[in-house]
Amino acid sequence: MTNDKDFLSFISERDTRANRGLLFVISGPSGVGKGTIREEIFKIIPDLTYSVSVTARFSRKGEREGVDYYFVSKDKFEKMIKANKFVEWALVHGDYKGTPLGFLVDKLQKGEDVLLEIDVQGAMQVKKKFPEGVFIFIAPPSWKDLEKRLRERRTEAKEDLEKRLKDARNEMRYMQSYDYLVVNDDIKVAIKKLESIIIAERCKIINNKNKFKL
Ligand code: 5GP
Repeated sequence: MTNDKDFLSFISERDTRANRGLLFVISGPSGVGKGTIREEIFKIIPDLTYSVSVTARFSRKGEREGVDYYFVSKDKFEKMIKANKFVEWALVHGDYKGTPLGFLVDKLQKGEDVLLEIDVQGAMQVKKKFPEGVFIFIAPPSWKDLEKRLRERRTEAKEDLEKRLKDARNEMRYMQSYDYLVVNDDIKVAIKKLESIIIAERCKIINNKNKFKL
């Protein structure tokens, strides 16, 4: 699916929901433990597809091309925006990040459940295009806890850390637009909660109509 016309017809056909995969979107401030929760959930629920984002930021030590992100230049990213290659994109902490459109639509059409881990700006764009998506917000138990985790993580320079803390305050305001809240005060419990949400959504009658010809 490469153009807007195809995308619009995909939206209108979705009413039938026949064999369409479910879309799960998780967001939350930096340092809240999203990365760990995401990694673990794929071990527990292997038949879930992760949508690898495209970014124009430099890769950090240990990050793998095509696994953590697709790393592209700023110029390439801007060309991709113009060519409608993203279902959403945003400047996150000063860097371009975006979800490839083709991959997402293709997997959903094939009936695969897809998980996106994107920021609040991106999630709000996805919500407009996929209102039936399941939006899950991961929150820290307290500000103090978040600050501590960010400082201990030390992947960012000092200025960047301050920026992420400021961004986190703004991100928390979007929580009310999400369907579910997972407070990460205990990582094992948080993972269990996310797993329960995914299982419950998969069990909904509306998501099983095609199985029983209702
Ligand atoms: P990082 O630490 O990798 O530079 O940034 C992580 C932040 O970028 C997280 O808030 C994550 O949710 C967000 N992010 C990752 N991929 C995407 C994407 O494709 N779109 C948007 N909007 N945000 C993304």
